[in-house]
Formats: sequence, C-alpha cells, structure tokens
Amino acid sequence: MDHKELGDSYLLHAYNRYPMVIDHAEGVYVYDTEGKKYLDFAAGIAVYALGYGNREFNDALKDQIDRIMHTSNLFYNVPACEAARAVCEVSGMDRVFFTNSGAEAIEGAIKTARKYAFLKDHSTDHNIIAMEHSFHGRTMGALSVTGNPHYREAFNPDIGNIRFARFNDLDSVKALADEKTSAIIMETVQGEGGIYPADEGFIKGVRKLCDDMGILLILDEIQCGMGRTGYMFAFEKYGIRPDIVTMAKALGNGVPVGAFAVTKQVADNSIVPGDHGTTYGGNPFATRAVLAVLDQYEKKDITGHVKKLTPCFEEALSELVSKHDVVKERRGAGFMQALELEIPAAGVIDKAREGGLLVISAGANILRLVPPLVIDEDNIKEMKDILDKSLP
Ligand SMILES: *Cc1c(COP(=O)(O)O)cnc(C)c1O
Repeated sequence: MDHKELGDSYLLHAYNRYPMVIDHAEGVYVYDTEGKKYLDFAAGIAVYALGYGNREFNDALKDQIDRIMHTSNLFYNVPACEAARAVCEVSGMDRVFFTNSGAEAIEGAIKTARKYAFLKDHSTDHNIIAMEHSFHGRTMGALSVTGNPHYREAFNPDIGNIRFARFNDLDSVKALADEKTSAIIMETVQGEGGIYPADEGFIKGVRKLCDDMGILLILDEIQCGMGRTGYMFAFEKYGIRPDIVTMAKALGNGVPVGAFAVTKQVADNSIVPGDHGTTYGGNPFATRAVLAVLDQYEKKDITGHVKKLTPCFEEALSELVSKHDVVKERRGAGFMQALELEIPAAGVIDKAREGGLLVISAGANILRLVPPLVIDEDNIKEMKDILDKSLP
C-alpha cells in the first residue's frame, strides 16, 4: 500500500485530500514522496510564515526538546512566561492564555466574554453577535459563531443566543445589539469566507458601538494576524484595539499553538482560577516556538518585508485579472490575497499543482494565496507564471 491508500484506509474521511503525499520541505518549496517540487503559496493554510527549514527556529525547538517539553500549568515554566510577555508586547494587549489550536482560542474568548457579562448583572441570558460568512473553527463554541450554515446544520443545537449580522454592514450589527449583548466577534479580514478585509468605517463603527454599549469586541486574527497583512495584527491598520484578540496559525510556525489575549479591564473582570484551563496549552515546547517565531519576526523585519512586497504581489495578481476573462477580481490585504473566478477554483488548483504550485481555495470560486511571509520577488513571478498557464 502506498501512503495515499494507507491514509484512505485508516484516516477518518473528514477531508478530500489532494492526491499527493508531502515528504519534506525547504525554504518556500515542498517536495512530495516522488521527489516533485512545489512552490508553496498555501503554507499549510497560512501557518508556515517563516518558511521551511529556518535554522534558528529549528535549533530552538531541538534545544527545548532536550530540556523539557511539558510541565502542565500547575507550575510556571520559562518559555511560557517569556512568550506571554512577547505576545503582549507585539499585540498591545495585557494578559494572554495559550491554547493548542485556533478553535480553542475562540472557545476561551467566548468563555471570557460570557464571564465578563455574567459578573456585570449575574444573569445568563446574554447574546453574542457574529458575522455571516465568518469562520472561527470546528469545536462546538467556535462552530456556533461560524456564519456558514453548511458547516453547522448537522451539528445543532449550538451553544445558543448567537445572532448573525452582515460583515461590513454596520446597520445590520446595530440592529442586533441590545443591553444583553456580551460580545461582537469577527475576523479583521475574513479568511475561509472568501478573503474580505473589514472596511475602515465598519470596524471603527463596531468599536464605537462596543464602547457605547459596554460590549466586548473580539477580533479573530488567527489567519490574518502575525504579520500576514503587513501589520503584526491587522487591526493596527485601523488604529483600533479589540478587547480580546485570538491568534494561532503562524504563531507557532507549524507547532500547534494558539492564544487569546485580553486587555487589563477584561482580565481583571472575568476569568479567575478554576474557570478555565488546559493540560497542554502553553507548554514549554509550544511557547518556545512562539518565542522563536517572534524573535525571527524582529530580526528579519517580517512585517516590513510583507509591506514592501505587497505592491509587487498585488500587481502580479492584477495582471492575471486583466489577462484572463475568468478572473473577476483580486482582493485582500498584504500576503492574504484572493482571486475570485467565474469558474470553480478546483480545476485551476489541480492544474497549478501539476505545474508545481500549491494554492488553495476559500469558497468554491475563490483562489486563496497565503504564502510564507518570506517569499521574494522571484517567487511571486514564478507563482504568476504558473497560474497564468493554469487559468483558461
Ligand atoms: C483556521 C482558523 C480558525 C480555527 O483554527 P484551528 O487551529 O483550525 O482550530 C479560527 N479562525 C480563523 C479566522 C481561522 O482562519
């Protein structure tokens, strides 16, 4: 049995996987078990921001394996304390809780918002406003605020008291907000829903609505955060700050780790010992990865690099829009870009893969490009040439 057959025989069929078996990677290229090389503009779904084989990152992990990988949260450990400070410094938040995934960061954010509201009036009938076409993860709480009926239908009942507004439509949010609204949750740039950045007027309007009504703003930056838009967090561009921010994906550069970070106001009026916990979350191995990631971001000025190359990336994609009638538009922010097609994206993705380029979709007609943040101009040109040949 080859590995594809082995996987089909023993892995639960939760995914329709592309017919290739990844073996190893170097820089911004992935190699399959047959030795074929692919330029990677998927990065494990916006995860491998530093690219593959970053020496300092890998050495830090190897060192931590030999020291200790896990302690539980009943004790302090060196990397978790240092990584907490580092995450607070780069996010402008005041306290952080480390998780093992993005969905768990959302769960923690929801619990924190519910506890904050509970302490205000000691009732349990609060609601949360989420957005249509949002994606926040697959666990029951995260799924409950995910605005895609297709993902939710078979798994109802959800956690309850969730209302869905239209993204970038402030009036639709205002119409749903009342004195029992504990939180508004949204992605700063919608990812799975098709790569839609928040309009400035919308996100600032939501921030003001939250301030006026005592509602917590939860920004999900699991995909768009960690430098992907050219800002460490996408909300920086708008000059606002959320009350709670979630992060994951690029945070560990491949090591499974997420986090939610809160303001001091939220920290002092929500979670107390006994309310929330995790066995693995924030263990020394995962948080050493976070420290090494943030160290590389600083040394390599990753956000500066993304800002500098964004015009080149956008121009390459815009050329494809003008040249191919089936490409309706380009949209996105920084290195989180989409091409919306008139045709299903699947055929183009297959052709690109055969041509040596990994891209993914974000909805049936949308090509998503979320490369490692260390790509250079040659990589962008190579991507454009392969897509050019893959598009009808
Ligand atoms: C990927 C993603 C999640 C879920 O993260 P997991 O690690 O898969 O649980 C949540 N929110 C957004 C915006 C994401 O892109």
